[in-house]
Amino acid sequence: MSQFFLRAITFAVLALCAASCTTSPLGRRQVSFYSNHEMERIGALSFEKIKAESPRSNDAAKLAYVNCVTASIVGAMDGERASDWEVVVFENAAANAFALPGRKIGVHTGLLNVARNQDQLATVVGHEVGHVIANHSNERVSQAQLAQAGMIATQIVGRSQGLDAEQQQLLGLLGAGVIQGGFLLPFSRTHEAEADLIGLDLMARAGFDPAQSVDLWENMSQGGGGQPLEFFSTHPSHSTRIRGLNQRIPAAQQLREEARTRGVIPRCGP
Ligand SMILES: [Zn+2]
Repeated sequence: MSQFFLRAITFAVLALCAASCTTSPLGRRQVSFYSNHEMERIGALSFEKIKAESPRSNDAAKLAYVNCVTASIVGAMDGERASDWEVVVFENAAANAFALPGRKIGVHTGLLNVARNQDQLATVVGHEVGHVIANHSNERVSQAQLAQAGMIATQIVGRSQGLDAEQQQLLGLLGAGVIQGGFLLPFSRTHEAEADLIGLDLMARAGFDPAQSVDLWENMSQGGGGQPLEFFSTHPSHSTRIRGLNQRIPAAQQLREEARTRGVIPRCGP
């Protein structure tokens, strides 16, 4: 990409920032062109599409387990009620989970083989909800709109994968790594690190053991059932991720102790 083009994009970001920048929960400036209402509508539409195409699990024990963990995580967020969130367990061997704007959470049964206890499952759910809290979908789509080169790269990659424009957009919103042109990758690593830390605080506030987050990512890196879809091209290096978590675990343990003192002690299983 030419220097001129990079400068033009930087200028466009700065100019638009004056009108449409927001701040992430960790204090990072982000560009967000869409309203929350708009993102929730797109998230809900995406979820309907996934539900229509993916088989659900009917395993009562798994449903109860996943619902217990997600309800605990949602309960740790200010002003959120578990009953407002739709949680679906999909029968799918890939170790994956996702959360979408519009209060939607999807968990694959395959994740339950990699997340070996409630604290590890809470790690993944907290991470996914962290992406939603930090408005990452909005930022991702807004960035793509800013970067014409990124958009063109997305279309080329998507076309080579046989996806139409709408499917590309939806996959992009899910963090499925459609944008592989290179332009947006550093932002995505930022998103991953941010979701890790927001998720860690959430799980700790919900009474789960934050130290288990490191074990979960160890399991994940050992290929237990495969990496979650969203991580296939953009996840931070394993050691970077573990270092980031370890730095924050002492503070998270404090949050967990405070929660337990208030009687917030999850007993979800499995
Ligand atoms: Zn993520």
